Amino acid sequence: MNYEEEIERREWLSQVGKLAAAAAVAGAAWEIVPAGAQAATPALGPGNPKRKWGMVIDLQRCVRCEACTAACKAENKTPPGMKYNPVLVEETGKYPAVKMRWFPRPCMHCADPACLKSCPVNAIVKRPDNIVFIDYDQCEGKQKCVTACPYGVPIFDAADNYYPEDNPVSQMPSPELGKKWYRVGDDARAGFSRKCTFCMHRQDANGDYTEPTACAQTCTGKAIHFGDLNDPEGELQTLLRTRKSMRLKEEAGTGPSVYYLL
Ligand code: SF4
Ligand code: SF4
Ligand code: SF4
Repeated sequence: MNYEEEIERREWLSQVGKLAAAAAVAGAAWEIVPAGAQAATPALGPGNPKRKWGMVIDLQRCVRCEACTAACKAENKTPPGMKYNPVLVEETGKYPAVKMRWFPRPCMHCADPACLKSCPVNAIVKRPDNIVFIDYDQCEGKQKCVTACPYGVPIFDAADNYYPEDNPVSQMPSPELGKKWYRVGDDARAGFSRKCTFCMHRQDANGDYTEPTACAQTCTGKAIHFGDLNDPEGELQTLLRTRKSMRLKEEAGTGPSVYYLL
């Protein structure tokens, strides 16, 4: 199975196949803490225009342990079954000459995001610092981004498989977009798209990161590097100068900010 087929199997079809269930979940659980209770959030500001945040993932160091996937889930308290950073598998050749590679796949935070252009209610924002995020307050669940993204990144949250409200996991708030998001409570809603935010809630008031993204911080193989692509002497540009690299689906023309070292 190659990368494209894996995308189809693990992301696209499984997500789109759930869309019919959306109508059944009106009123299901996803509470937004009232605005007055939310901390002021630099993450929802313009960010630091001098930065171009990006990621360089070393395919030679990735061991497919999926610690990055788990760290992302733990950090963002994503609902059961939802992964912002699956590790996709590419298999080429025929037995016994089979070759396999693993591709951790966060959002690519594209320069020209197909998701953004597809959104009929302008709920997707691209900041000058490269970060593309879905404003969950504005998303009306039209799901255009789910099919428009060449990487199968946005996930429609139909509240499938949510734990009961009295489950401690349901009561843990997610810090996404610098807010506290619960899946329980009177104001809960469902039926909107979600995705990797480059952990923008870890930015400080200046739009810089106080610590790396959760996936980079946790990576067992030290394969994920997160930083500023604008810094010519920074870690990312140094790696890209000294190693061969690729980006996924260049032909889609979206300009991904995630590079893979070969
Ligand atoms: S944690 Fe690191 S080594 Fe493990 S699957 Fe993710 S990128 Fe690969
Ligand atoms: S990878 Fe997909 S969801 Fe992420 S910015 Fe690009 S088009 Fe949008
Ligand atoms: S950057 Fe943050 S949100 Fe994106 S995949 Fe990594 S841990 Fe998840």
